[in-house]
Amino acid sequence: MATGSTLSDGFGRRIDYLRLSLTDRCDMRCRYCMAEDMEFLPRSEVLSLEELVALADAFIARGITRIRLTGGEPLARRGAVEVATAIGARLGSGLDELTMTTNATRLRQCAPALRAAGIARINVSLDTRDADVFRYISRTGDLARVLDGIDAAAEAGMAVKINMVALKGLNDAEIPAMLRWCGERGFDLTLIETMPIGVIDDDRTDRFMPLTEIRDALAREFNLVASTHRTGGPARYLTVAETGTRLGLISPLTANFCDTCNRIRVTASGQLYMCLGHEDRVDLRAALRSGSAQALDDAVDVAMRRKPRRHDFDIGVAATQRHMNATGG
Ligand code: SAM
Repeated sequence: MATGSTLSDGFGRRIDYLRLSLTDRCDMRCRYCMAEDMEFLPRSEVLSLEELVALADAFIARGITRIRLTGGEPLARRGAVEVATAIGARLGSGLDELTMTTNATRLRQCAPALRAAGIARINVSLDTRDADVFRYISRTGDLARVLDGIDAAAEAGMAVKINMVALKGLNDAEIPAMLRWCGERGFDLTLIETMPIGVIDDDRTDRFMPLTEIRDALAREFNLVASTHRTGGPARYLTVAETGTRLGLISPLTANFCDTCNRIRVTASGQLYMCLGHEDRVDLRAALRSGSAQALDDAVDVAMRRKPRRHDFDIGVAATQRHMNATGG
């Protein structure tokens, strides 16, 4: 792919951000994300560590300047730190930023090595600080371990952003306290609307919270100042004047952001998804394994032409068969 040009889709959007999934497996089973009985990819379908790095290199050669490692739980993949280190070695040579989204359960062991690999910012999913609610939402998670992982990331010198999916009747009452807690610790907080990705055991309609409502409620308690800050992702930010930290809002249902989409996602089996909300994909694994740089280049170009204009989410209807753990957040 080294000879290809930079990536733009059929709507003239420049694509420079890759979310690369290291695995679809996760040690949690968050109710809004997965069904209880999930089937994961057979190991034979999963790209090797070397192939993941080769793909990242090929995308950097095509003008991808930001890579986020995700999953499943990226740190559940053996060798995740080695992949981060290998990709991090490209920082300053085409790659501007390497980040990760994680549930933090393995951060106590991995944070120093991830920081050394060049990850300066990390997103940690934390939907609640109530241990019982945490266990209910995640089905298997251990809040104390997650909080310790968050401490480890901060101690290692990474800027921590907390991701919290807003869930009516489960964690919505806790959002002001979460914003305060984040502010005290110097963390940004991003709230996310739950998306209809994959069929789960619950009805997502019951839990859906429009962020417009939450933002209005928070504005009565906090001095929220409009901010032009962007991190390359879909969040829109406000600065919390009391703490100087930021509140990010990701509102895929109530405030569509597809016009400025700059992202593509590659699964751990090398499937390139051009949009989170659509099934269409291009198989990069076959092209990668053919050993032909041109074949890979061509496959990516095909994908660019097929990237849809936007997602069309209806909270009551699963937009895709696959769940978020396949393509990552
Ligand atoms: N395991 C890692 C983690 O927990 O951050 C990375 C993968 S996880 C799929 C990435 C993010 O997607 C998490 O912040 C999670 O809360 C969010 N997520 C999962 N399913 C979602 C859904 N249906 N709607 C909105 N966000 C979702």
